[in-house]
Amino acid sequence: MSAEGKTVIITGASSGIGAATARRLADAGANLMLAARREDRLKALTEELGPKVRYRVTDVTDHADMLKLGEDTIAAFGQVDAIVNNAGIMPLSPLANRRVAEWDQMIDVNIKGVLYGIDAVLAHMLERGEGHVLNVSSVAGLVTNPTSAVYSGTKHAVKAISEGLRKETAGKIRVTTIYPGAVATELGQSIRDPDVLAGLRDRFNYTPLAAGDIAEAVHFAIASPRNMAVNEITIRPIEQTL
Ligand code: NDP
Repeated sequence: MSAEGKTVIITGASSGIGAATARRLADAGANLMLAARREDRLKALTEELGPKVRYRVTDVTDHADMLKLGEDTIAAFGQVDAIVNNAGIMPLSPLANRRVAEWDQMIDVNIKGVLYGIDAVLAHMLERGEGHVLNVSSVAGLVTNPTSAVYSGTKHAVKAISEGLRKETAGKIRVTTIYPGAVATELGQSIRDPDVLAGLRDRFNYTPLAAGDIAEAVHFAIASPRNMAVNEITIRPIEQTL
């Protein structure tokens, strides 16, 4: 059980679950390529984590940028063993409030970003006959609640895409879908809808997990032996009903 020496791309590494995962995997001795848009955050984290960690400013909604992320990682480390498609946004709102630009953003980041991440590494992994794709969905990818119709739609899509990839590449590529419950991160900052903001405190009236808790789960899946495919992990605060 070791992630040592594995080369891992992490999207959304500038905060929250992605940054915590970077710290956990760096601690385990992995080579890391960190990706997100905020360069100051990526630079500081890379300096904190040492010489086996690099970063590339990348927008997951840009296909060409994501292909370059894969190429740059191979150029830097020789190969890609795993990608953690973690970047995501969650601007919740009821459908009737017609926040169409936010629907489009969620579809672009949460669905297309995951697809582009897969596309950036899949040919390389298939050529090598091994690799690991980890996609961060959510418990919102398992159940849908009011105000999360679009967010849940994107996270259900991540579930479906992961299942399809797992079946298409069985025997070669390990595919892990992670379904976190509430985690204390910056994710809620993407919520702009006044109705949702007004009810936020009542809705999440329990203690969220720490980002490091999810990072442990990601590390477990990556460090597991090659013949052991961790398909799915659901991890949530004990008070949170699914
Ligand atoms: P954060 O807001 O802390 O992190 C989100 C990350 O995504 C940031 O690093 C951000 O970086 C990155 N990101 C957003 N848009 C883009 C983009 N266009 N291109 C590249 N990177 C982007 O939230 P979390 O850590 O909580 O979120 C990580 C994942 O976990 C998401 O997929 C989220 O849906 C999922 N999740 C979170 C839960 C929670 O309760 N926190 C629960 C269930 C799932 P930057 O802005 O620098 O680009």
